[in-house]
Amino acid sequence: MQKYWTHRAWVEGGWMTDVELTVDPAGMITMIQQDTDCRDSIDLEGVVIPGIANVHSHAFQWSFAGLSEFRTGQRDSFWSWREQMYQSVERLAPEEYYHRACRLYRIMLAAGYTEVGEFHYIHNQPDGQPYPQLEILADQLVQAAVDTGIAICMIPVLYQRGGFDGRPLTGSQQRFQLSTDQLQSLSRHLQSHWGTHPRFRLGLAFHSLRAVDPDTIPAVIEAMTPVMGAAGPIHIHVAEQTAEVAECQSRYGKRPVELLLDTTAVDARWCLIHATHMTEKETNRLAESGAVVGLCPTTEANLGDGLFPAAEFLEAGGRISIGSDSHVAVNPFAELRLLEYGQRLTTHRRAVLCDEERSCGDRLFQDVVQGGARALGHPDTGGIGLNHPANLVVLDANHPALAGCPPERIMDRMVFCQWGNAVRKTMVMGDVVFDRDRFDEFQ
Ligand SMILES: [Zn+2]
Repeated sequence: MQKYWTHRAWVEGGWMTDVELTVDPAGMITMIQQDTDCRDSIDLEGVVIPGIANVHSHAFQWSFAGLSEFRTGQRDSFWSWREQMYQSVERLAPEEYYHRACRLYRIMLAAGYTEVGEFHYIHNQPDGQPYPQLEILADQLVQAAVDTGIAICMIPVLYQRGGFDGRPLTGSQQRFQLSTDQLQSLSRHLQSHWGTHPRFRLGLAFHSLRAVDPDTIPAVIEAMTPVMGAAGPIHIHVAEQTAEVAECQSRYGKRPVELLLDTTAVDARWCLIHATHMTEKETNRLAESGAVVGLCPTTEANLGDGLFPAAEFLEAGGRISIGSDSHVAVNPFAELRLLEYGQRLTTHRRAVLCDEERSCGDRLFQDVVQGGARALGHPDTGGIGLNHPANLVVLDANHPALAGCPPERIMDRMVFCQWGNAVRKTMVMGDVVFDRDRFDEFQ
């Protein structure tokens, strides 16, 4: 058992003072005591907040971030970006994938993310042929997580067609092709090879309704449930772009979120990535389903996606989480800031996403801590709590964002004030995996 002490910690949605956390050898918090002194404990020397789950990552896109901010035609869009992004991975080899992921995961840990949901859809060789070992790229990502210390929910992605009309995959997209049988054997490998690792869990994803026939989804889930367990999370990109909504409507007579809700039993296991374009009815139905939405505000802004109806969704009781997606920003607080600012810019109001009791920073942070844990398959263990993993982020109390700040406003400072990184130390399941003062050791 290891005991840690901090003068201030964010516990169950609010600040607690003089807190002692007892962490067992498995990295779980077994006791929380308040109003203690630090005599028998290690002083964490800072303000302690829970680690945040980054629910949506494409590690391969990281080194491409910032390299497509120029015109390629009359009207650049998500679709022209996608072509450039495909070209950037044409020659990506397994070893490079590992090194890219290691660098990215270290940046995540330094930003306060303690778990990553890796939405993994490069499965094949550059020419589209399967690798002799189907799992070779997926294993690079898990190995990178294990070596850097970030917890990982590995989410292999089914990708089977080039659009709603069922056209076959061509060109670079052939690297993404996976049959349902291949998905099962890849998942079985991941579970048998990594399943006993305490920081690993397995999920399932459908790339999008563009890339997977919605009628096949229930059968795939049924086939995959014995492999990943009944609590395994299920992710999908949905309704990110208006052209995607229009194409779905013309093929199926329904909008993407509506179609998904009508064809599949969407429940609390699900995480819908983006879900940007929804009607009021879709917004309410999705909130009622218990599913989490995985928002990636910086990427969504960068790609010109549109604005998620956050105020309406939260008002309807919806659950949210955040992801860094294409990694133009790797900063959970920047994502929350942009989420709120998007609402302010369209409604011409301030303090839109707070509620009666809580400020914007307090509310959004707590929502994504809990929603993130749910989205990565371990509901009810988000945040600092009994029998939760000791995923802790220590903030520098002397950082400008915290020094002199009224304690009840610390989270708002973290979200709204862009004054540099206040993260001093990050712990995953009780292990220090990032320490600003010893950063070289973590390179
Ligand atoms: Zn994505």
